[in-house]
Amino acid sequence: MRTTLPTLSAYLETFRCIGSDCEDTCCQGWNVPIDRITYEKCQNLPASPLATLISASLTKCESSAPSKTATGVQAKTGNATPFAQIRIDGADHCPLLTGDRLCRVHAELGEQMLSYACSTYPRIVHEFGGLKETALALSCPEAARFVLLNPCLPIPNLKAPETQSPRQSTPAPALDPFVAALEQGNAEDGAKPLPPDFIAIRESVLELVRLRSYPLWQRMFLLGLLCRRLDSIARGELKRSVPGFLADFKTAVSTGSLRPAMETLPVDRAAQLDVVLRLAGLMLHRSHVSPRFAECIQAFTAGIGNGPGATLETLTRQYTRAHEFSFEPFFERHPHVLENYLVNTIVRCQFPFGREGMEVGAEPQRAREFAKLTAQFALIRGLLIGVAGFHGASFSTAHVVAVVQPAAKHFEHHPEFLKLSFELLLESQMDGARGMAILLSNAEQKPATSVLPDIRVPSPYQNRPVARQEV
Ligand code: SF4
Repeated sequence: MRTTLPTLSAYLETFRCIGSDCEDTCCQGWNVPIDRITYEKCQNLPASPLATLISASLTKCESSAPSKTATGVQAKTGNATPFAQIRIDGADHCPLLTGDRLCRVHAELGEQMLSYACSTYPRIVHEFGGLKETALALSCPEAARFVLLNPCLPIPNLKAPETQSPRQSTPAPALDPFVAALEQGNAEDGAKPLPPDFIAIRESVLELVRLRSYPLWQRMFLLGLLCRRLDSIARGELKRSVPGFLADFKTAVSTGSLRPAMETLPVDRAAQLDVVLRLAGLMLHRSHVSPRFAECIQAFTAGIGNGPGATLETLTRQYTRAHEFSFEPFFERHPHVLENYLVNTIVRCQFPFGREGMEVGAEPQRAREFAKLTAQFALIRGLLIGVAGFHGASFSTAHVVAVVQPAAKHFEHHPEFLKLSFELLLESQMDGARGMAILLSNAEQKPATSVLPDIRVPSPYQNRPVARQEV
């Protein structure tokens, strides 16, 4: 009997919320975006104490418009102003939670009354050309465990259903107008064709990320090379077909002909740490700093030896030690954790096409998308290095989740994070091949050839900002 291997989407669809057992509920620290249809349903509720509470907690957003955006399709990923939102109470919680931290709307009115963001979070579904891909938002602690800690995370299935032409696929009959609006949004994207060579490129990317014969940082560097070459082909500077180039690239990687060049790449841990610190402080005045994220930052800064008298030089020495003695031994034993992080991020961000790049006729910007992926990866890895240094030999998978989850909540849902992080790499001149090598390299540090500037790096997380972000 033939066994069908599970796909990433099928596996992620089995995710289950752990409800009141959750250590950092999604109903805490975030305003809850409400789509137009749910807002209108709320206006027509029969009188009840819950209807009164909903009415008192709902605020219509000024710039909202009755569009696909307003259904929450984009709001949940942080890309747009929602139609309305639920104001968080003084304790930072959704006022519609019960004392047991369960949703009163779900319990008393049923699942069909949940907004789009509430009913789908933490699932992120992309549908294009008949291909459905699912990722999870790692801002949910259970989702972070579900993705990061699975040593056998299935690979995405990149084959569109054969029985349906991408342009003719129709959504299943909708149960009510709310679901109809959501399915209309998905069908709009689902009916669009995939960008040229999407499947061949994504297969090459995913294969590379899992190719353990190379250290992970070298796989990332090779990925950057692949993206730059694909851009050159798209611009007509490199006269190759994409499939022909991908086949040659795969041969070069498998024969190891690119290894010697990577061994001579520059190593500059001070510059790497400097960018990590700047990325970590990027959303300081724009995003809500949760107690869990503040705890993570405290462990990170302690792990790299921040304190009175610290300089970039002393921090770099401690960061290098943390990497060598705590981070590296742990991730050698758990190589799937960061690979899974990358696979989920690749699907979530539609890498290397990006949201805009999935549109018909969009100009490919794969090197730019790679820079954004690298910024996210370098930030998470940098935080993990510091926190691993703080915990030393007791650093565990629970600590990994305690870093990735609040960091994802702090950064990934903010609509400006990717744009700002890309601008930061541009400004630091880290967006080219040399900069990427410095950001990604895990290699041993060569003896310093220049005197490092005596820069104090203050802990940026002492003041709690007031701005909140959307789910
Ligand atoms: S963060 Fe995840 S596990 Fe926690 S309440 Fe929300 S969906 Fe459930």
